[in-house]
Amino acid sequence: MPLDFEILVVGAGPAGCAAGYDLASAGKHVLLLDKYAFPHHKPCACGLTRKTLKALRYPVDPVIERVCSDVVLEPIKSPEAVTAPQPADRIRLHARSPICAMAVRERFDAFCLQKTLSAARNGGAISLWKIDRIHALREGPDHVEVDVIRTDGAETRMETLRAPIIIGADGSNGQTRRLVQPRTTSPGVATGESEQDGFALEATVPYAALPKILPSGLAPQELVFDFAPLPGGYGWLFPKADHLNIGVGVFSPAQDDGCRRLKQITRKLLQSYAQQKLGISTLDHVTGQQLGMGGHNYLPRGRVLLTGDAAGLVDPLTGEGIHSAITSGQAAAAAILSCPEGERSNDVAAVYARNLRPLQRTLAFSLRAAKAFHHHPERGFQAMRTPFMRSLILKTYAEGIPYTRLLTALARFTS
Ligand SMILES: Cc1cc2nc3c(=O)[nH]c(=O)nc-3n(C[C@H](O)[C@H](O)[C@H](O)COP(=O)(O)OP(=O)(O)OC[C@H]3O[C@@H](n4cnc5c(N)ncnc54)[C@H](O)[C@@H]3O)c2cc1C
Repeated sequence: MPLDFEILVVGAGPAGCAAGYDLASAGKHVLLLDKYAFPHHKPCACGLTRKTLKALRYPVDPVIERVCSDVVLEPIKSPEAVTAPQPADRIRLHARSPICAMAVRERFDAFCLQKTLSAARNGGAISLWKIDRIHALREGPDHVEVDVIRTDGAETRMETLRAPIIIGADGSNGQTRRLVQPRTTSPGVATGESEQDGFALEATVPYAALPKILPSGLAPQELVFDFAPLPGGYGWLFPKADHLNIGVGVFSPAQDDGCRRLKQITRKLLQSYAQQKLGISTLDHVTGQQLGMGGHNYLPRGRVLLTGDAAGLVDPLTGEGIHSAITSGQAAAAAILSCPEGERSNDVAAVYARNLRPLQRTLAFSLRAAKAFHHHPERGFQAMRTPFMRSLILKTYAEGIPYTRLLTALARFTS
């Protein structure tokens, strides 16, 4: 016999927790499923922009390790350039309000999960099950059944769970998207859009292992976005309390050589980047993950609502995904709460689609801005030297002001 639940949420990362929090506090009975016990490692630099902090339902101060109001942008190395970019070419941006707060992802996730598991109000309830994996997912006329494999001590067994609606929040490599859209790897593909994928690698380095001033002339505690290591993405240094997070990622592969660009994100690239930036020759515990992209075209259908990376909602210009994960999780919860009990699933999917549209419009603009920027990176970087563009970029990244303004300005500089 299937076990019945009001709502199942697969994945307890930022998207799943955001959805679970709103549903449980509105009186719904929610079961969260995750394949890991918490805290667990998730490859992520965990830069939390102002808009992300604003979107969260609770302050996350206990897990904030540093707040950055300054950003260093390292220039692109043009193919014609004989020498590497020089320190004099770098751009320093300063904002009156904090741009980005820094957390460590394991602690951030565990904190959000703990808030979510204590969010139940108005007769609601929420709990978390650790599962090994989903074995099968069947969408019926008025409910979805999910067969999950669970291990309890020495015993591994399959259980069938049933709910009228499921939220797929299991990230870029999760199962729900593949089970719901089996022939597609990216939500955008379903609508005929060319596939976009991103990939990023990261590692951590304790400050104790670094000199006070790095070989690049920077202090280890500076927030750095570096466009030199690769086209279509950037390298970063994100300063935490006692260590920095170093990484490289590609977010905007051009259609023709996207796969080639993704393959460039290797341990070797990160290693040589660390050598060049930090002067260290070994990195411990390098981890990476695909980023869910292409979701500006995702059209929710049926009884499984995809959110966050599972819906491909990472920003193609910045690689930022936590903000989209939270807002899409909240949008899915709002859709469920706004449809009366027993309402047809299409109504919930249609309301979710409507709720998601502002975010998708922003992502579509972001994609165009990314294409414009990466088409003529030198011109794009040149544009950043103007005070107007600097302030626009800072505001767009930190606060999420409409991309139209950034796009129009970028187009002027890059055409
Ligand atoms: C190297 C790197 C650096 C990044 N840095 C930043 C950054 O600084 N700022 C930012 O905003 N974004 C960053 N991102 C993107 C960000 O990590 C993601 O966009 C964000 O985590 C998406 O949240 P999510 O809840 O959709 O998915 P996830 O965070 O991936 O959470 C999915 C959850 O589902 C669980 N799960 C997976 N499969 C299953 C399954 N089959 N069954 C049950 N549970 C499952 C996982 O254990 C996990 O807990 C980075 C990404 C990478 C790879």
